[in-house]
Amino acid sequence: MGKFNDKVVVVTGSGRGIGRAIALAFAREGADVVVNVSRNVEQMNQVVKEIENLGARAIGVVADVSSISGAEKLIKGAIEHFGKVDILVNNAGIARPAMCYKMTEEEWNKVVSVNLTGTFNCIRAVAPHMIERKTGKIINVSSIAGRDGMIGNINYAASKAGVFGITKTAAKELARYGINVNCVAPGFIETQMTEWLKEPKFREKYLPRIPLGRLGKPEEVASLVLFLASDEANYITGQIIAIDGGMTMV
Ligand code: NAP
Repeated sequence: MGKFNDKVVVVTGSGRGIGRAIALAFAREGADVVVNVSRNVEQMNQVVKEIENLGARAIGVVADVSSISGAEKLIKGAIEHFGKVDILVNNAGIARPAMCYKMTEEEWNKVVSVNLTGTFNCIRAVAPHMIERKTGKIINVSSIAGRDGMIGNINYAASKAGVFGITKTAAKELARYGINVNCVAPGFIETQMTEWLKEPKFREKYLPRIPLGRLGKPEEVASLVLFLASDEANYITGQIIAIDGGMTMV
């Protein structure tokens, strides 16, 4: 018996990295999982196959969460296939780095539309369903960049700080319907997004700033997300929990 038997989980942006680790962790605990990407169908199908190999059920839905129609397609696909959504993990996110005085309008809009608007769109799409069922758990994946700021990433930091506001407001609005909304804020985690940290000059600069002395693993973020989605976290809502090895972003 897994901890999430009979639960249906939607994980946005779960073709690789942190989202993939979250999807696999839920599957190991018996959940039915909806895997999502906006483009990379091959990665999505691979994760679906990995989940099925674990003996759990999964479907893949290609949908860009930065549009309301994309978010609705994703939630509708989940409900049509599995009959309900118990848990939504808003993980899809991108970075387009540039200094504030060089950033293009497109770089700003793209990051805000996926990270911030995408999180809102999915909550908006799933909330009526969760309200009707008077139960649900929503976990947003933000970043400590939203807490500390991050040089060269004003769009990213602003979008992630916005996710804190979404978390706190949605938690207040949805608590009366038995829905918990929380947020995890990772530091540097080993994924494609942090490939640039493999360069020695960046490693030398950033590693001394992480008291635990290493980057985090996607599986470590997944453990925290699963805790927040579990019954053990029923009295936690509106919270932002950092998972960053103690680091402060510069
Ligand atoms: P990643 O390896 O680049 O994976 C991102 C995933 O999101 C991919 O599967 C991607 O697939 C999907 N995606 C991107 N845009 C999407 C959209 N518009 N709609 C649906 N899916 C979309 O990133 P990651 O490092 O795992 O990061 C996951 C989350 O953690 C992000 O929100 C990120 O900001 C946050 N985070 C990461 C770190 C870190 O150090 N890695 C630190 C703090 C926070 P497609 O490209 O095919 O759509």
